[in-house]
Amino acid sequence: MSAIRTPQTLPPVSRSVDELGSSFRGELLRATSPGYDAARRVWNGSIDRRPAYIARCTGVADVVAAVRFARERDLEIAVRGGGHNVAGTAVCDDGLVVDLSPMRAVWVDPAGRTAWVQGGALWSDVDHETQAHGLATTGGIIGHTGVAGLTLGGGIGFLMRKHGLTVDNLLAAEVVTADGSVVRASADEHPDLFWALRGGGGNFGIVTSFRFALHPVGPTVIAGPIFWAAEDTRDVLRFYREFAGAASDELGSVIRLGTVPPLPVIPEELHWRPALAVICCHAGAVDEGERAVRALRRFGTPLVDLLAPSSYAAFQGGMDDTVPHGWHYYWKATNLAGLSDDVIDVIADQAYTAGSPRSYAAIFHMGGAVARVPHDATAYAGRDAAHNMSIDGVWLPHESSDHAAAETTWARAFLHALEPHRAGVYVNFLDADDDAGRVREAYGDHIHRRLAEVKAKYDPDNAFHHNKNIRPD
Ligand SMILES: Cc1cc2nc3c(=O)[nH]c(=O)nc-3n(C[C@H](O)[C@H](O)[C@H](O)COP(=O)(O)OP(=O)(O)OC[C@H]3O[C@@H](n4cnc5c(N)ncnc54)[C@H](O)[C@@H]3O)c2cc1C
Repeated sequence: MSAIRTPQTLPPVSRSVDELGSSFRGELLRATSPGYDAARRVWNGSIDRRPAYIARCTGVADVVAAVRFARERDLEIAVRGGGHNVAGTAVCDDGLVVDLSPMRAVWVDPAGRTAWVQGGALWSDVDHETQAHGLATTGGIIGHTGVAGLTLGGGIGFLMRKHGLTVDNLLAAEVVTADGSVVRASADEHPDLFWALRGGGGNFGIVTSFRFALHPVGPTVIAGPIFWAAEDTRDVLRFYREFAGAASDELGSVIRLGTVPPLPVIPEELHWRPALAVICCHAGAVDEGERAVRALRRFGTPLVDLLAPSSYAAFQGGMDDTVPHGWHYYWKATNLAGLSDDVIDVIADQAYTAGSPRSYAAIFHMGGAVARVPHDATAYAGRDAAHNMSIDGVWLPHESSDHAAAETTWARAFLHALEPHRAGVYVNFLDADDDAGRVREAYGDHIHRRLAEVKAKYDPDNAFHHNKNIRPD
């Protein structure tokens, strides 16, 4: 790793572009370049890093040139897909960011039911293009999340119980490795790399495009949230445990605990009221979906029921405004083996004690097709978890450090209270510093060891370490 250099001691921008040479067609930004501050910002507004270079790549050749440029100068490398990871690993201080955000194209083959997706695309890009053909693949529940980081960590979402994790739908990837080579990884080409990419994160190279399997979905599906008052949490969760446990694979659901978000579709008098929501998406026919959610809709006295026939693409973007870019976020996460009465008590006791009405917890219902893939078929390790949970402390950019401390303390205390019930963790939900030691927990010893072997083959110098790092064996 290079010694820390200040922007003043680095060569002027024109010479740097010359150094990159004619092989780089994108934009190379320095601290003095117009657009530098916008380009170094990521989703989590609490991340404030100042890279020496941001290489905004327009294609594979640019990524190769940027990697070689950084390696020759021993610059630290960060890789940016959607820039959405809560830990902010997409940007580093002093080094070079390989920024794929200009590379957002999606090419759909409707007859073959596959799509190639570039490494800087967002899930809203994928849903938009695939739904034009009535197709979709498992992606994140927020449209402005990046495809690359999400896929490389596993990929959980509403379609997973029917169609598997995002990585279960990955057919091939084009990868720029640490020495600047371009390789194709699939079941037939570099199968060890292909295995590692399906859960092992950004440790093995820079993925410039992904090829996904697609499935018929919608375009109209039964989807949306039902909200109940916070006081009903224990009863709703006990009912949900039976309801979700008996649900068909078509029914994906996520529980959100916090307050009612101030979305235009929700009556204003309910905004910010402490509440939990069960958000469903049924990946089948509308009449079957209506039958599948009937019992949930009849349970208790909802504050508001927004479960209805919806456009799948619009539903996928429906919660985007609840977690905008620029707010400050701090996460804790765990997987759960189930929603026992004890777990439900902890959740009901902790979920509404945050200081900010924006803080929330989310619980994804796993199982179905996710659990039917053999444990070591991919590097995603949490296939037997019943739920993946994230506890998300949120505060506003202008709020004081007291607010930051309060939401951080809340998230930590919530996780601490769940300690006896923890069952692994989803690597993509890990936050920065105090989660650094949890990477092994996310993989377990066996998968972690195998990942370290693949790392040693494809990135022996650990050039790609600004991530949830796996060291070469
Ligand atoms: C509000 C919110 C909602 C979320 N919802 C979900 C969800 O529904 N399902 C889910 O599974 N996850 C979800 N996540 C977690 C998400 O999977 C991770 O944050 C993921 O890292 C985002 O990907 P990105 O490309 O935007 O990441 P970035 O921040 O751009 O990158 C994170 C890391 O990924 C690696 N990386 C990025 N691009 C590449 C590339 N092209 N090649 C190689 N490595 C790369 C790098 O190591 C980088 O440090 C959510 C996150 C947030 C903040």
